[in-house]
Amino acid sequence: MKYKILTSDDSKMVRVIVARTFSPFNCEILEAGTGTEALEVVAKHSPDLIILDITMPDMTGLEVLKTLRANPVTASIPVVMLTAESANKTVEEADRLSVSGYIAKPFKPEQLLAQVKSIIDLQPA
Ligand SMILES: [Mg+2]
Repeated sequence: MKYKILTSDDSKMVRVIVARTFSPFNCEILEAGTGTEALEVVAKHSPDLIILDITMPDMTGLEVLKTLRANPVTASIPVVMLTAESANKTVEEADRLSVSGYIAKPFKPEQLLAQVKSIIDLQPA
């Protein structure tokens, strides 16, 4: 199965690193630079997993997450937070919204890969 993974981050550099991290695997990487864009991509392409930043210019990742969880169609998409935001309150809120993982920036690509592999069965391309 070819998984679709969405990277939503306002940093182009992070999106490039994420895309590069998953390029050896049989998956398609979708990108969004804002929260609004992320919701549009989700509606259009139904990704299997989302790697979500918190601090973005239009909506925060937590707002995106809340919106996803409130819609039965998107409520169960696994989400891994990838963020520089590490305040306890934020982590707890993400936890309440059932995130599958929480990775703090700066991150190691192997760390992200391990987290994602524990959620979906990625195979080499
Ligand atoms: Mg950001």
